[in-house]
Amino acid sequence: MDKLEGRYTPLQRSLWIVGIYLLAGWLWITFSDYLVQQWFPDPELLSRAQTYKGALFVLVTALVLFLSLIRQFSKDRTLLSLHHHQREQIRQLNQFRESVIERADIWINVLDPQGRVVLWNKAAEDISGYPREEVMGSDAIWQRLYPDEEERARIRARADEILRDEGEVVGYETWITTREGRERQLSWNSRSLHDEEGEIVGSIAIGQDITDIRMAENTIRQRERQLSTLMDNLPGMAYRCRYDEHWTMLFVSNGCRELTGYEPDELVHNNLVSFAELIEDGSNEHILQTVELAIGNAEAFSIEYPLVRKDGKRIWVWERGRGVDGDGELALEGIVLDISDRKALEDELSELATRDPLTGLLNRREMTRLLEEEIARAKRYDRELALLWIDFDHFKAINDEHGHAAGDSVLKAASALLADSVRSVDVIGRFGGEEFVILLPEMDRPEAWETAERLRRLVSETPHPLGGGKTVCLTISIGVSVFPDHGNDPYALCAAADRAMYQAKANGRNQVVLAALAEEAHNP
Ligand code: GH3
Ligand code: MG
Ligand code: MG
Repeated sequence: MDKLEGRYTPLQRSLWIVGIYLLAGWLWITFSDYLVQQWFPDPELLSRAQTYKGALFVLVTALVLFLSLIRQFSKDRTLLSLHHHQREQIRQLNQFRESVIERADIWINVLDPQGRVVLWNKAAEDISGYPREEVMGSDAIWQRLYPDEEERARIRARADEILRDEGEVVGYETWITTREGRERQLSWNSRSLHDEEGEIVGSIAIGQDITDIRMAENTIRQRERQLSTLMDNLPGMAYRCRYDEHWTMLFVSNGCRELTGYEPDELVHNNLVSFAELIEDGSNEHILQTVELAIGNAEAFSIEYPLVRKDGKRIWVWERGRGVDGDGELALEGIVLDISDRKALEDELSELATRDPLTGLLNRREMTRLLEEEIARAKRYDRELALLWIDFDHFKAINDEHGHAAGDSVLKAASALLADSVRSVDVIGRFGGEEFVILLPEMDRPEAWETAERLRRLVSETPHPLGGGKTVCLTISIGVSVFPDHGNDPYALCAAADRAMYQAKANGRNQVVLAALAEEAHNP
């Protein structure tokens, strides 16, 4: 029977069953009498069997009918409840689909083949500003969303392509005009919808409002442009580098070219040279310590150091940077500026502050500072230190006779002669006017006296140029004092030497006088 159910239509099945019933009835009517006669030879039993035979047939066929009906009805019932269950599932599914469409924050609309709206979700309402009632069943929305005729024609042509099933649309961007008159940018995904027979019944369009995303992208692009303009116009070089022993550059701005002479590509990833190699020997250790300290304190660092350019020129740079998190590993970001001009100016200023402009020797202030330093060193190492106080004899007369300019040239030449005639460890300075001081470290009294005597003789034996080819003879008087014999501090030492110099003047000039020791001073 199950096979029949699967293979035949209900009519065929019914005809089969009736056929079988007719056949069974005919067989019964035809052969039952004969069979009963065979089984019951006794005439009395036979007549009784003849009586019940009809009833038996009716009972058996009723039983078969009963069983098949019961089977059919229970099958129908199962089918019915299955059907009901399926309908409920479909209903729930539809409800779910509708609520998803409704609640989705992307615009979903369905158009019929004529381009009229048949579905318009909440997001479509929110984005466009047009409520469902205003758009359903009409294609007027096209004109409202795209007021520009040309634009509208172009977009509708694309939508018609989908309705003709000529492919689907992915990421198609349009600008719509909302009900409030604002412009919004949407990215569309759209395709055609088909019924069971494959007929096109419309199209579905899913639109994402990308106005804010695009705006953010534009802002980022603009910022990037600004940043790169800024970087390229920065004085010096902006960088980002690894915190490693090569200072491996991950990025350098175009300012790299002017600063180092290298192309950015040559420096990045140590392609040609590492930044560490540009740093003059001896400075790297100091830089490393400064950076390490700053990173430890989570502070920015500033540092000055010399750099060797590609052309071999040595420049001074100032760097300011800080540690940053570079994708999980520590990196440095900052800027490097060329401060060579400032450094040169500083050197010049310090030169001006410490040197006498006429003779180029150290000035009185610097000499006093150095004298303090030398005395401290002599104390520390328990050494001696001699001081010569020199004054030119009758210098006023040279000025008077040959003019002040000639006096200047004599001063210059004589001071150069003195400077060239002392050891490199000795320090010579102009204390003022035509008075000079020479510091002779590690010299005792006899040695100092001898040196002074040598210088005195040298000056007196050397003709000094007045300018214009003429020369003049000059003598000097020298007072000598020695640390610690004649004093323990700069003042005492200078005073002792000065006094000795005056003694030399008093004794007739052109001579060296050793300062008197304390006991001699008290008992001359
Ligand atoms: P003495 O020292 O032997 O006693 O005689 P003096 O003529 O050298 O006298 P004193 O040392 O007191 O005077 C120093 C003179 O040196 C006074 C000044 O005319 C001259 N003098 C000082 N500084 C300069 C200078 O920079 N250039 C020139 N041309 N002369 C100077
Ligand atoms: Mg003098
Ligand atoms: Mg003088």
